[in-house]
Amino acid sequence: MNSYDSIVVGGGVSGLLSALVLSKSGKNVLLLEKNRNLGNNCNSYLVNGYRVDTGPHAITQLHNGGPLRYLMENYFDYVPALIDYGDYFIREEEGLKEVPTTLKGYLTMDVLPRKDRLIIAQSLTKMLLSWEFGADISNVSVYQSLPWNTLSSDTKEFMDTFSYFLSGKSAKETSVQRMFVGGGFIEEDIDKDIIRENSEHQHSDKFKRLSYVSRLLNNNKVNYNQYYPRNGLKAVLNSILYSLPETVEIKTNTAVEKIVTENDIAKGVLTKEGPYFADIIVYSAFAKDLPKYITDLPAPYISDLNRIKQSKSLTIWLGLDEAFEEFNYIGGEVWFKKKSFWAMPISNYNKSFAPKGKKLVGFMFSIDENSSLESEKLEAYNTILRVYPSINKHIDMVHYQITIPEKASVAIDGFIADTVTPIKNLYLVGTDADDRSMGITRAAYSIVKLITVLRKEKILDS
Ligand SMILES: Cc1cc2nc3c(=O)[nH]c(=O)nc-3n(C[C@H](O)[C@H](O)[C@H](O)COP(=O)(O)OP(=O)(O)OC[C@H]3O[C@@H](n4cnc5c(N)ncnc54)[C@H](O)[C@@H]3O)c2cc1C
Repeated sequence: MNSYDSIVVGGGVSGLLSALVLSKSGKNVLLLEKNRNLGNNCNSYLVNGYRVDTGPHAITQLHNGGPLRYLMENYFDYVPALIDYGDYFIREEEGLKEVPTTLKGYLTMDVLPRKDRLIIAQSLTKMLLSWEFGADISNVSVYQSLPWNTLSSDTKEFMDTFSYFLSGKSAKETSVQRMFVGGGFIEEDIDKDIIRENSEHQHSDKFKRLSYVSRLLNNNKVNYNQYYPRNGLKAVLNSILYSLPETVEIKTNTAVEKIVTENDIAKGVLTKEGPYFADIIVYSAFAKDLPKYITDLPAPYISDLNRIKQSKSLTIWLGLDEAFEEFNYIGGEVWFKKKSFWAMPISNYNKSFAPKGKKLVGFMFSIDENSSLESEKLEAYNTILRVYPSINKHIDMVHYQITIPEKASVAIDGFIADTVTPIKNLYLVGTDADDRSMGITRAAYSIVKLITVLRKEKILDS
């Protein structure tokens, strides 16, 4: 058979969630994945007895009203066991300091000079208040929101580091709004989505804005609502795969080479095995690659797709031959001086990820596109040795991963595509088809948007 209700291109988490939603809504689905395995950026595998994930992960917005929670409750046959992510710390030469979640916390956080802390607190409060009164701060960069040139180099590195973790880009390219969302001070706007219909929080936008400003001003602690799957990232993949009905046919090792269109309507796809046809095509590969698959896209759309920005990351997984007391916490730590990184000792969530008595820690770095990979790897590895001087004697396993964590960075002058494309019946999902939150949560937002669009177009029943 080569004719289906729907074809999904790509078998990462976005493609699989699309297949799940379509099939559970009564459509038969053909999912095509070019690699041998499904999951791509959402997976785990064994390296010398250690079970590493495809990068350190914290899954955000798993509260009631969050997109992945919505999908889990409505489409999953079972939900993977999730553990509270824990705390975020900043590592200094002397040890760890908890990342503040209140204005008072920022003011007393002595990792930065006092003068800078006051400037940051004043500038950010001003920004948040202007947002409260309706200003659009989505195009104001973190860099523009602060008197940058008056800040110490430590503070600049600190702001750059957090910008990289929130958007994949520097403070010059990261919007201050994204900083507030990442810090939990602004809630992402989910009004347009169907989640809101099912959610308890149905207040007006104005009320929502005020309540989040008061969080900062009244020093209420932010609840991050972030989790880690107890059995590793693969547990998320497995729960989706288990939930897929038999009406989903999966072909791995099958790359889509062309998307077949006729009068600007998508009709099917071409692969080495031949053509497949469907009423709708959901595309979860890189949106910026679409012009390779469809030759007659409108020029303005191609130029928008060309504005999509991406960043690369390097994860170094270290297996340590002892418990190593620097990593005796649950959560993540950030190092921001010179070469910054995010570290996560994941065997603290589940001891079975490391051989008995050993520890597994992931260190994630942003990569400079202009440097060679080998020099980036060496510099990152040496940074770890510099920050934890005694770690060298305990390294039992080293594993490198180089990946593009998100298909589009939410950079100020970047572009994020939409679900709907200029080609009828061709829809986009994934981290380049929505700008809310990050990673798996952003992928889930894009699927919720897909459901909304397909219901509106009467392709799915409401
Ligand atoms: C180091 C790192 C850290 C991360 N940290 C977090 C985190 O803390 N929290 C979080 O939520 N997320 C995080 N993420 C991001 C998260 O893992 C991804 O956003 C998510 O897994 C992306 O899924 P996706 O399906 O959209 O994209 P992908 O995983 O890229 O899937 C796309 C799929 O399409 C396939 N494909 C491409 N072209 C074709 C073709 N022509 N034919 C057929 N198939 C094709 C690819 O092979 C791939 O399998 C992190 C990722 C990395 C790498």
